[in-house]
Amino acid sequence: MHYTCPSCAAINRIAEDQQHKQQAQCGRCKQPLFNGQPVELDDGSFQRFLQKNDMPVVVDFWASWCGPCKMMAPVFTQLCGQMQQQLRFAKVNTEQAQQTSAQLGIRSIPTLIVYHQGKEIDRLAGALPAPQLQQWLQAALSKIH
Ligand SMILES: [Zn+2]
Repeated sequence: MHYTCPSCAAINRIAEDQQHKQQAQCGRCKQPLFNGQPVELDDGSFQRFLQKNDMPVVVDFWASWCGPCKMMAPVFTQLCGQMQQQLRFAKVNTEQAQQTSAQLGIRSIPTLIVYHQGKEIDRLAGALPAPQLQQWLQAALSKIH
């Protein structure tokens, strides 16, 4: 399975089973691959990240001036810790990644998009509390498998 390092963006090959995943380290920078933190993406890294991960990816499109985004950030990080074996969590600052945000037609924030192998699976506009957000993510994952 291909997995992009959250620290240095190197592409790692890791075994599929849960136990190996827990302890997996990056072959280049030796940081843990499953660190419980969303990965920050920008215009330069966005497409590569989507294409080079075999796991589904959920991206949070946010902005520093957006109140609901700030409320949702800790929820997103919490779910990342809980669901990181099933799903990659990534964040895009729409003020910096303007090209990516325009290409994807992001009109309201926060917007969440779930991808699998570079293809959009589902999209959600607006913040949700943790239980509802988790339900939405599970529903999106069930469309993949
Ligand atoms: Zn690394």
